[in-house]
Amino acid sequence: MKHNFGAGPGILPQQVLQEAAQAVINFNNSGLSILEISHRSPDFEAVMDEARALVKELLNLGDNYSVMFLHGGASSQFAMLPYNLLGENETAAYLDSGTWANKAIKEAKFFGKVNVVASSKESNYTFIPKDYEIPKDARYFHVTSNNTIYGTQIHQFPESPVPLVSDMSSDIFSREFDANKFGLIYAGAQKNMGPAGVALVIVRNDLVGTVERAIPSMFNYKLHIENGSMYNTPPVFAVYVSMLTLRWVKAQGGIKAMEKINNEKAAKLYAEIDRNTLFKGTCAVEDRSRMNVCFVMNSPEQEKEFLNFAKERDCVGLKGHRSVGGFRASIYNALPLSSVEHLVKAMQDFEKIGSS
Ligand code: PLP
Repeated sequence: MKHNFGAGPGILPQQVLQEAAQAVINFNNSGLSILEISHRSPDFEAVMDEARALVKELLNLGDNYSVMFLHGGASSQFAMLPYNLLGENETAAYLDSGTWANKAIKEAKFFGKVNVVASSKESNYTFIPKDYEIPKDARYFHVTSNNTIYGTQIHQFPESPVPLVSDMSSDIFSREFDANKFGLIYAGAQKNMGPAGVALVIVRNDLVGTVERAIPSMFNYKLHIENGSMYNTPPVFAVYVSMLTLRWVKAQGGIKAMEKINNEKAAKLYAEIDRNTLFKGTCAVEDRSRMNVCFVMNSPEQEKEFLNFAKERDCVGLKGHRSVGGFRASIYNALPLSSVEHLVKAMQDFEKIGSS
């Protein structure tokens, strides 16, 4: 068995993979593959409906929200969000807390004015900026809840006088939060929810259709909502696997249960990073992510050796992103506690070898 610490695509529950594999061969005993059925068939409409309903149920969302499953990953949402919500002469506020936030800022500038209220770029995004004011006349305030590359996470969302918008690609469904405080939430599926190829978008209905510009159909939230995310052929398989994962989250006890185990996994791993004489964390302790744990070695020349050592022990996907180096252990929902314990043991064994 491999222990998969890959950042994205991330690990999915074994049970989900098995059900998905079966559906590729024979979906719902229809004699057809999920890859062959019409997205307009009642069987697939039921999948889409259940996926949307599970998102609402797990996040306790009110009827004033719409849920969409759209093509183009989270990166398309960097542009689709301002396309739909930010008028040409209006300003949107952004928090620059990492590479993805930075890309979102870049895209928003195509559509309106952007006010970057704070940035931790100069310290290589090792912390989440907290000292800022959100302008009251901004159309919305955009934050990245979890910085997948740098391993930082917003643990307390700000009170915002304007609609709060968040890219939650790498921590959606991993911890409890009040989703009803948000104007819009989006997430690429491929970390905590499903395969690449689909993004989840949740939007408060009163924010849709508020800009004056004409929006081409495929980029128009209103049209996608009216068509139940089936304006064109949806990414059927990605939606199906996401739905299976959401079912799995619910069966585990929902987000509350996910958070409990995720906190335990993160605490174990950070405790070892702090205890072990060979390793150290890369970011501010109070902002440490409970999804992507970034760490390096005090002697960088040993990093390759440890990576191989861990790989021999079936720990894969640990190489850190090039902007941080070292290691990144992504401990998404589906990663069991035993995998974290296995990695911790590898770190302890490596320390012992060095000192013997
Ligand atoms: N936002 C965050 C926080 C991410 O981690 C990623 C990908 O890793 C993206 C956006 C981009 O997602 P996609 O590849 O689905 O466009």
